Amino acid sequence: MNLPHPFHVLQAGLADLDVGHLTRRRRVADTPCAPRIRLDGRELVAFASNDYLGLANHPGLVDAIAEGARRHGAGSGGSHLLGGHSRAHVLLEDALAEYAGGFACHPRALSFSTGYMANIAILTALGGRGARLYSDALNHASLIDGTRLSRADVRIYPHSDVAALAAMLEADRGDGVRIIATDAVFSMDGDIAPLAALLALAEKHQAWLVIDDAHGFGVHGADGAGTVAALGLRSPLIVYMGTLGKAAGVAGAFVVAEDTVIEWLVQRARTYIFTTAAAPALAHAARASIALMRGEEGRARRATLQAHIATVRETVARCMPAHGSSTAIQPFMVGGNEAALQLADALLERGLWAPAVRPPTVPPGTARLRLSLSAAHETADVQRLAQALETLHRP
Ligand SMILES: *Cc1c(COP(=O)(O)O)cnc(C)c1O
Repeated sequence: MNLPHPFHVLQAGLADLDVGHLTRRRRVADTPCAPRIRLDGRELVAFASNDYLGLANHPGLVDAIAEGARRHGAGSGGSHLLGGHSRAHVLLEDALAEYAGGFACHPRALSFSTGYMANIAILTALGGRGARLYSDALNHASLIDGTRLSRADVRIYPHSDVAALAAMLEADRGDGVRIIATDAVFSMDGDIAPLAALLALAEKHQAWLVIDDAHGFGVHGADGAGTVAALGLRSPLIVYMGTLGKAAGVAGAFVVAEDTVIEWLVQRARTYIFTTAAAPALAHAARASIALMRGEEGRARRATLQAHIATVRETVARCMPAHGSSTAIQPFMVGGNEAALQLADALLERGLWAPAVRPPTVPPGTARLRLSLSAAHETADVQRLAQALETLHRP
């Protein structure tokens, strides 16, 4: 068949991706999220999920989803402002404000269907024309899209460069709204933002400090309350975003901030208002997950995770110059796209699944394996990975 011109544009684009080793493939899992999975029909040990505490297949949470569905039904049936706001959402928000809101005077939480939507909500509702938005160069795509949709005047500061950001803030006079936005744990490098220094700048310049803790919530801090709590930061200018589909093992996300900020989001955030509320059963399960993360089980799982991180860090340090990650995300830098794919394939041959991450997810020339660790891994799994990397890696 002779396809019309618009199709040729797509076909040429897809062919270009292939030539650059940039075509992405979705591998199909026939098993629940866990270290041992069957992926495209192969039995593998996976180092690919964000299930840092190993809760995604926790029997208590599976039961909680079922119980939530029996109690509240399968779907919410509407948006939060038009009948879809369930008691399950209210209870979840109360629990989140109490758990993660220690930085605020009057903390309140707002639940979202996804972290992507939560970030867009924050930046569009707080920003707008005339606002100035300062964004870290390695921020997550959802923060980037939020800056674009905000219509604010956007300034990208070099990754975690507090001095550069300070100079930008000094140079920008005028009294418009200012917003600093950063990942707390950077999702492809695993390093932690200099949050205390960023907060000092935010306070000095009366700017909002938007912190995306997708990879820290549930993991950092003695009770897992996240990176801001772990650092003991307190300020009414902090707007904290956490996700419920990573360490918490379920789905969704939330914002915790001062009551006034949350009320503004309810009134103005389009990704909150114009979308169907997440299934109440998920909110019910997320609340069960918070109880797990805060309790003894969460504490024990965090300790196991830290031991695995230490093992992999030592291996990575033996293979390449030190990098800054002390978190469950350990990048194994390769450089070229094809080389990263080859290393991932060689690991697959050994029954180990660690995905290669390529541009545009990471800057050109910095393709890598993104090793992500979970409390559900066994020590033997982590040692197998470490040994395979040392064998395969030729600097
Ligand atoms: C995963 C992630 C998000 C998006 O959260 P979802 O709930 O998956 O939409 C936002 N920010 C960062 C840093 C993330 O890693």
